[in-house]
Amino acid sequence: MKSANSGGSKNNKVVVVGGGGGGLCAAIAASEAGAGEVTLLEKLPHLGGDTLISDQIISAAGTELQAKAGIVDTPHQYLVDHLKGGRYKSDIVLAATLIQKGAAAWAWLADKGCQFPGPEALHVQHDHSLARSVKLLPPGMIPPLKQAALARGVQIFYNTRATDLLVEDGRVVGVKAEQDGQPVTYQADSVILASGGFGRNREMVKETCPALVEAVSWSSPGNTGDGIQMAQAIGAAVVSYPDMPLDAFRVIQTGADVKHKVLHPTYMMAHTRAQGAILVGADGKRFYDEMGRSFEVVQAAMTHGSFYFLIFDGRMATATAWLPEKTFEAQLESAVNDGLVAAQAPTLAELAEKIAIPSTALEETVAQWNRDVEGGKDTAFGRTESLGKIEQPPFYALRYKPAIVQTLGGLRISPQAQVLDSMGRPIPGLYAVGQITGGVHGADYIGGSALLELAVFGVIAGENATR
Ligand SMILES: Cc1cc2nc3c(=O)[nH]c(=O)nc-3n(C[C@H](O)[C@H](O)[C@H](O)COP(=O)(O)OP(=O)(O)OC[C@H]3O[C@@H](n4cnc5c(N)ncnc54)[C@H](O)[C@@H]3O)c2cc1C
Repeated sequence: MKSANSGGSKNNKVVVVGGGGGGLCAAIAASEAGAGEVTLLEKLPHLGGDTLISDQIISAAGTELQAKAGIVDTPHQYLVDHLKGGRYKSDIVLAATLIQKGAAAWAWLADKGCQFPGPEALHVQHDHSLARSVKLLPPGMIPPLKQAALARGVQIFYNTRATDLLVEDGRVVGVKAEQDGQPVTYQADSVILASGGFGRNREMVKETCPALVEAVSWSSPGNTGDGIQMAQAIGAAVVSYPDMPLDAFRVIQTGADVKHKVLHPTYMMAHTRAQGAILVGADGKRFYDEMGRSFEVVQAAMTHGSFYFLIFDGRMATATAWLPEKTFEAQLESAVNDGLVAAQAPTLAELAEKIAIPSTALEETVAQWNRDVEGGKDTAFGRTESLGKIEQPPFYALRYKPAIVQTLGGLRISPQAQVLDSMGRPIPGLYAVGQITGGVHGADYIGGSALLELAVFGVIAGENATR
C-alpha cells in the first residue's frame, strides 16, 4: 500500500535497493533526514558488495587531515585531476558536486564510525597530483555503516532481490522483490537504487564490450546490473560509450582468476617491467608501450586476443626477488598453483614452445627490443621508460588477461541523485547512487573517488528521497 503521506512529509517511506556502501549511506541519510521508515533490500545473505572487498582507499580535497599535514589543496585542483583521469568524459556538474562535498563527506563518515588514519597516512593515489587519499582503518567502511543504519532503525532484509519497480501515474511507488524465493512487494514514497555495477553479468558485459566477455571480474557476485535493467525498463537513460566500448569498464591487468588479494601478478608486472620486461600477444609480437596507462595497454592487447604474456629474463627475475613477502621462485610457484600460466625455459625458442606461441616471432620480437634498447629508442611504440635488454637465461613468461574491476557506464542522474529519463527529466520517486550510475567518473576512475562518491551521493539521495 502506498503511504498516506506520499509527497514528502517526515512520515514517508524510503526503500533502498542494495546493501553496499552507497545503499547504507543513503539509508542512514534518509533516516537522519526524518524518513518515517527506511527499508534496505539486499539480495545476498550479507551486506557489503564491492565496497566490502574494495581496498578502502578514499580521497578528498581540503580535509582536516590535509590541513594537519600542511598540504595545501583545493577542490578545484582535485577536479582538474578528476576530469583528466576520466579522460574528460565525466559529467562536470556531477564531478564538481562529488569533489566540492568531499571533505564534508569524510566528516560524515567519521561521524558514522568509519576510522580514518592520521595525517602521515595521506598519500598520492593514481592520477592525483597531491596527497589527498587514505586507506580507512579496519574494519573499513561497511561494518560501522551497518551499525549506524541499525542504530537508526533501518530495516534490513537479506536474501531479498529486487526485480521490478512499481510505477503509478509516472511515479515510482515501490519495488517488487523475491525474498527467499517468494514474491514480495515493498511500497514506498521513494526508491533509491544502489545495487552496484554489472561486472558480474556476462550478457551485459558482452553487449557493452564483446572483447571483454572472457575477462575476469573482481566484482562482488551480486553485481549483475539488476538495478540498471529495472530502471531502464521504466524509461531511465544510461550513460554509455558506444563508440569506445572498453571505456565503460575499469579494467586492469591480472594474472589469473584469482582473488584480488593475491597480488603477485600485479607485482611481477610492475617490477619486471621496470627492468625492461615486455608484453607480447599470442602471435609473439609486442602491441603497445608497456609503460602506458593500464586501460590503454589492455585496449591494445584486446586486438591481439583475450590474453597476453609478460616476457622477462633471469636478470629481471633476480631484481624482482627482493619482493617482501615471498621469494620470486615461491611467487612463480604460487602463480602456477593459482592457475596462472607461468613458464621458465633456457632459451626463448623453448619458452615459446611451452606457452604455445610462434618461436620465430618471439625471438625476432626480443631481438628487435634488444636492438632498440641498445639504440636508446623503442622504434615500435616509443616506450621511453625502463628500457632493458632481455638476454640473460632463464627466460620467463607469465600469462595475463584483463580483469573488470568496475563498470563505469550506468544510470544517468542529476546532481540531486534523481534518475533521469532519455529527455533528461527526473523520474519522480527514483534516485540512484554508486556504481549503478554513470557520469560521475567518466571513462576511467581516479584512486579513492568511488568510495567518496558513495558518501557524497548517498547523502544527497537519502536527503532528497526524504523531502
Ligand atoms: C577489488 C576492488 C577494489 C576497489 N578498491 C577501491 C578503493 O580502494 N577505493 C575506491 O574508491 N573504490 C574502489 N573500488 C570501487 C568501489 O569499491 C565501488 O565502486 C563501490 O564500492 C561500489 O559501491 P556501491 O554501493 O555502488 O555497490 P556495492 O558496494 O557493490 O553494493 C551493491 C549491493 O547491491 C546488491 N544488489 C545487487 N542487485 C540487487 C538486487 N536486485 N536487489 C537487492 N540487492 C542487490 C549487491 O549484492 C551489493 O551488495 C574497488 C572495487 C573493487 C572490485
